[in-house]
Amino acid sequence: MNIAIDGPASSGKSTVAKLLAKDLGITYLDTGAMYRAITYLALSKKVDLKDETKLQQLAKSADIKFMTSDDGQKVFLNGLDVTQQIRTEVVSQNVSLVSSYKSVREELVRKQQAFITKGGIVMDGRDIGTVVMPNADLKIFMVASVEIRAKRRHLENLERGFKSDYEAIKEQIATRDEYDQNRANSPLTKADDAILLDSSHMTVPEVVAEIKKLLVTKKLV
Ligand code: C5P
Repeated sequence: MNIAIDGPASSGKSTVAKLLAKDLGITYLDTGAMYRAITYLALSKKVDLKDETKLQQLAKSADIKFMTSDDGQKVFLNGLDVTQQIRTEVVSQNVSLVSSYKSVREELVRKQQAFITKGGIVMDGRDIGTVVMPNADLKIFMVASVEIRAKRRHLENLERGFKSDYEAIKEQIATRDEYDQNRANSPLTKADDAILLDSSHMTVPEVVAEIKKLLVTKKLV
């Protein structure tokens, strides 16, 4: 069973996808982490982010692995744990530019499709239902208002003891969405056969339960 979950930044896709994959006993793939890993690599190697050829080479040669640990999923890039590094402000600000290049996307889509096995997978991202898994058994397009998404991210930061600025988060989410929706290559868009799920007024368990109901309706479980 292959499930595609797409949607704008901080819509709760990864939290829901992770829980769903655990419940169903199938693999979870965070494709955003892969674009973040290439962005982090480019920044640390001081690659010009306008140099598409160089970025494509990085994407092609990068060895990206995921490992499940007690404190969540860890991301390894060329053998190094970059789980924290790929979530920094500077990576978030540059990832939309790096992921806008066609050749970079082609390299990462190839890597993402290699994760698809008979065992089933839940992938979350921006182009999963449209490009990476056009034949997915279930496609969800998860949305929530920008205010609610920013508020959730803000509270999450505070709970973790990080400094947080609600207005700045809202601005950054809106800018990233705008960029992801309007790029020429595989823009963030709902696949025709995806089910729209507005999580603005739903808790995470409610969203997971709703998706499970859809799986039952589709006779997938
Ligand atoms: O999911 P996350 O917010 O971590 O993704 C970071 C960025 O990676 C997105 O804003 C988008 O620019 C890019 N992305 C993408 N296609 C995907 C997943 C993420 O372009 N499938």
